[in-house]
Amino acid sequence: MNPEALQTPIDYLKGVGPNRADLLRSELGIHTYQDLLNLFPNRYLDRTHYYKIGQLQRSSSEVQIVGKVVHLKMVEQQRGKRLVATFVDDTGQMELVWFRGHKWIRESIKLNTPYVIFGKANWFNGKFSMPHPEMELLSEHKASLRSAMQPIYPSTEKLNNKGINNRVVNKLMQQLFVETKARFYDTLSVDILKELNLISKAEALVNIHFPKSQELLAKAQWRLKFEELFYIQLQLIQKNITRKHKIKGFNFDQVGDLFNEFFKQHLPFQLTNAQKRVIKEIRNDLGSNAQMNRLLQGDVGSGKTIVALMTMLLAIDNDFQACLMAPTEILAQQHYNSILTLVNDLRVNVKLLTGSTKTAERKVIHEQLLNGELDILIGTHAVLEDKVQFFNLGLAIIDEQHRFGVAQRAKLWEKNEIPPHVLVMTATPIPRTLAMSLYGDLDISIIDELPPGRKPIKTVHRYDSNRLKVFRFIRDEIAKGRQVYIVYPLIQESEKMDYKDLMDGYESIERDFPKPEYQISIVHGKMKAADKDYEMERFVKGETQIMVATTVIEVGVNVPNASVMIIESAERFGLSQLHQLRGRVGRGAEQSYCILMTSHKLTNDSKTRLETMTRTNDGFEIAEVDLKLRGPGDIMGTQQSGVLNLKIADIVKDNDILKTARYYALKILKDDPSLSKEANKVIRYTYAQMAKHRNIWNYIS
Ligand code: ADP
Ligand code: MG
Repeated sequence: MNPEALQTPIDYLKGVGPNRADLLRSELGIHTYQDLLNLFPNRYLDRTHYYKIGQLQRSSSEVQIVGKVVHLKMVEQQRGKRLVATFVDDTGQMELVWFRGHKWIRESIKLNTPYVIFGKANWFNGKFSMPHPEMELLSEHKASLRSAMQPIYPSTEKLNNKGINNRVVNKLMQQLFVETKARFYDTLSVDILKELNLISKAEALVNIHFPKSQELLAKAQWRLKFEELFYIQLQLIQKNITRKHKIKGFNFDQVGDLFNEFFKQHLPFQLTNAQKRVIKEIRNDLGSNAQMNRLLQGDVGSGKTIVALMTMLLAIDNDFQACLMAPTEILAQQHYNSILTLVNDLRVNVKLLTGSTKTAERKVIHEQLLNGELDILIGTHAVLEDKVQFFNLGLAIIDEQHRFGVAQRAKLWEKNEIPPHVLVMTATPIPRTLAMSLYGDLDISIIDELPPGRKPIKTVHRYDSNRLKVFRFIRDEIAKGRQVYIVYPLIQESEKMDYKDLMDGYESIERDFPKPEYQISIVHGKMKAADKDYEMERFVKGETQIMVATTVIEVGVNVPNASVMIIESAERFGLSQLHQLRGRVGRGAEQSYCILMTSHKLTNDSKTRLETMTRTNDGFEIAEVDLKLRGPGDIMGTQQSGVLNLKIADIVKDNDILKTARYYALKILKDDPSLSKEANKVIRYTYAQMAKHRNIWNYIS
């Protein structure tokens, strides 16, 4: 059938009146035949198996039984009447119960005739009963071609209340197949169908709605999932290509004096291969005439700062300014310090702008930015203020991307005609699966190698009852000259309790680690910024050996001499947060440790989190587990991206299909960017149809 015909409004389908059409639209977003066709079942009931009454289990589940009704009676109750049938087979008897529709059922049921019944068998008052069973004469059941795998469609309470139950949806679907004669054009090219050995679109649609067998159902699911992911990938990749063609970027064609001088004379260490590769990828972007839009992922401590600096030097070599934004003042300050140290011998003007920058200094910064004297501006959100105007911003680097919104980012260059190159750095690895779907239109660089000589952090799980041993261990480490973090959870909802835990903990630590032998810093969100800085400073300088803190230290703090991270109530932290916290240690040459303290009460999820943390240091592996535990909905950025609107594929479970889909989308666009080859005609046509009917745009903001 002509694909346009599938755009017929749902009102036209036989069996759908104006009321049902309205409900289908408002409840399930079904406007057209096509939409109904793409309403895929959530699950299937297996009706290939027949139970005997004698086999029924007391757990209530859906079963199918062959037997006869031998008796029918009305039972009067306070709450109303019910119709009860006695149903028997050769192993026993049970009751079928109806609370409504009595007249019709009494008139239509044939006594002592074999039926197939289907429904939930409940154990009630010493016998099994099944309310409102589906019933079909055995003779008709045998003759019917209906699938043994019964689809269960997504529904809503309102639909059910208005009588549009699963059976009705099923009927409508059958009607749709009748009206369209189930002739559906294929939406994938012959090449793909052949290479992947896929069933046709028509066969897939038949089998997703009326599976003929488990095997065909599996094939139908694979094909439809692939198709869904393929067209999303196609669009993301094409968006990326378009950006490269259309969004002009500053061309940094000079690898000039600063970069070269730094590289040859001032590199404090040899770059890792991963760092070299990433710098190369960035340099390619910067010289391509198109705007760079790159995500740089690298675990904590993988050395992103030097990459950021070298990218900024490239900008300056080409007579542009660069800025580096961090989510917190502490982090901005640290970036500023490390970059100042690195460029110490170079003629580079670097300044720091945060909320606490003094007015006089601020004025100087504003001036130097405008007249071009300032090369690098490092700062917090303060950089985004309207008063901050650049002479020629050519590069914006954003650290810890998830804390800045897209809109905020855009603010940086809304006044520019040509946008600056953008490099987003994150230490929270986004699982590859998710990154592909979310950021398929960004380029991604990954530093997947730690600088040499790092000893992997040893992570253990200890119960609160072992606290004395843990304290002894801390004393030993401090005796060796090391420093220790002790972190308490602080969660908004239970802030008061958490705060009390923190203070109690602090007091008990003070008792166990008495002055003057031990000095303790404490930092938490309720302190004034100046006090926080003071305490932090003491720890950084090594004047205190123990830092008691809430998660404010999560991001960025760099104290290489700190080698022990104790996380209290670790079961209350999420995986990525645990991993971030652990990243605070292991920054020096010494062996570092992370100790996860918990009570004995642990949920299965907490156990998985703790087990994952003790097993691996790999941020990507951790991110994958996190995604599996929490689902994509809770991971940053997914809410807006619409990956949750997938109709059939599951971004976590269908990882392999996603990879295949991406591979094919890339392959095809590489070979035929405008999809103009004859072999890709079907794809171009389908893609255009999707765009026209806005199917695909639902996925992407
Ligand atoms: P992050 O990726 O977490 O921002 P940093 O850039 O802060 O990591 O680097 C962590 C530490 O590793 C810093 O002390 C830095 O000087 C050091 N470092 C970075 N790259 C290398 C390298 N190639 N060899 C040795 N040390 C390195
Ligand atoms: Mg960093």
